[in-house]
Amino acid sequence: MPDTGLFHVVAFDAEHREDHSISRVNALTLRCHKCGKLTAWNADTLQRLEGGTILACRHCQNRQAISNARLNERASGLHGNERSASSTSSDTRRLRHRPTP
Ligand SMILES: [Zn+2]
Repeated sequence: MPDTGLFHVVAFDAEHREDHSISRVNALTLRCHKCGKLTAWNADTLQRLEGGTILACRHCQNRQAISNARLNERASGLHGNERSASSTSSDTRRLRHRPTP
């Protein structure tokens, strides 16, 4: 999962627009690199910015603002690898099932 430098994003849940950009982050679980403790934020406690989200540790003063685009970019980077792997296998399947003229 994404690492911002100050936090390791263990999990996040977000609503996406049709273009797959994040419209709203609903939940976030972070591991703080300063104190090493986990903090979970839900839709009620999460601090949002216009187009971004505040990553904050409940156990120390560690805090970071991150844009939703950056959060999504890092997450889709992981999905991108999976997607390219599956598209390769579907290409292979398509070739195999191509009818002979
Ligand atoms: Zn901390």
